[in-house]
Amino acid sequence: MAETANPFEMARQQLAAVADKIDLDANVHEVLRHPKRELTVNFPVSMDDGSVKTFTGYRVHHNVTRGPAKGGIRYHPDTDLDEVRALAFWMTVKCAVVNIPYGGAKGGVVCDPTALSPAELEDLTRRYTTEIAILLGPDRDIPAPDVGTNGQIMAWLMDTYSMSVGHTVPAVVTGKPIAIGGSEGRIEATGRGVVTVAREALRAAGCQLPGATVAVQGFGNVGSTAAMLFCRAGAKVVAVSDVRGAIHNANGLDLVKLSAYNKAHKTVVGFSEAEPIAPDDLLTLSCDVLVPAALGNQITTKNADRIRAHFVIEGANGPTTPQADDILRDNGVVVVPDVLANAGGVTVSYFEWVQDLQRFFWSEAEVNSKLEQIMTRAFGQVQAAARRHGCDLRTGAYIVGIHRVAEAILARGIYP
Ligand code: GLU
Repeated sequence: MAETANPFEMARQQLAAVADKIDLDANVHEVLRHPKRELTVNFPVSMDDGSVKTFTGYRVHHNVTRGPAKGGIRYHPDTDLDEVRALAFWMTVKCAVVNIPYGGAKGGVVCDPTALSPAELEDLTRRYTTEIAILLGPDRDIPAPDVGTNGQIMAWLMDTYSMSVGHTVPAVVTGKPIAIGGSEGRIEATGRGVVTVAREALRAAGCQLPGATVAVQGFGNVGSTAAMLFCRAGAKVVAVSDVRGAIHNANGLDLVKLSAYNKAHKTVVGFSEAEPIAPDDLLTLSCDVLVPAALGNQITTKNADRIRAHFVIEGANGPTTPQADDILRDNGVVVVPDVLANAGGVTVSYFEWVQDLQRFFWSEAEVNSKLEQIMTRAFGQVQAAARRHGCDLRTGAYIVGIHRVAEAILARGIYP
């Protein structure tokens, strides 16, 4: 199949590959090829200079058979409907892989959040929330942060929704500040899950994290937390990058110093205890573990053959094209796929939602230990499926996830 840069096309190719492998019911396959509902909104925002600008946003529910629609909201200049469709599909699979009772959703607003003032960002968020409010609700659709959004944006979303219904509804969104019902451990959850599955993948291959060399692409919420936790686990983080550039230190970066530098300068570039390298070279560095934790479409047929890491742990969603996946598999690279590797985020989102609904909050230690249990169990189930079917871990994850979704669709039946 030809390589496509269209993420929804990629998602459908991944679905077709697993459908073949597990003899997926043709009707279930047909249902899963299409998002259940898609909302596109064009809405005005008053800018600080007095002008009014129109923004485009999306909210897509891929499938809600197993529970309410769950998934983040992305603010990025390049997002579009097909990307949001793919991300919603991956959320359906991801929630099923870790076996939490949600369907898959995703949202996006085409904008550059770094170019907006705080007031503009708040107005955009409140207006977008109002525009998609027909879909939202703690039993219907529960957003969370994704690329370009954060806890503050979730707080504005929660407040806007709560104002419109006339009472406070913490459970309508996750990834919000602890002061309004957020969960301990949610900010670190995705990175923590990445390190947990990396440890399991290395262990399954007879290796271990202490002493392993790691390169991390992206130093946002996922990449920076993962790098710090890899370092604490005794691994050597030899390279990291962000949108401005990449840095390398063969002896291992001091993550405590690097995090302080990044906090002060809003970039890792210029950190004195490292040399600059070309961002593309980070992906092809000789190291044990590569963590793409930035955007999609990073490992393609253009560079897959040059990847020298033994393990690729997908912190980002959709970083590897299906064709690049084939090349990595043929070269013996173990890929822990996004729908498993970055599922720690939505898992602790689930914990946050449960805590909000029960008005009963857990300690960070409780959250982390339950997260650890879910991630290691999911890794084990995915690995067992991959061994049973003689396939890679992505196909194994899809076998586990799609099987659960298919079982739910078949049990409920096609209405009417
Ligand atoms: N945006 C994150 C993801 O892609 C988290 C979604 C959530 O917590 O609902 O998994």
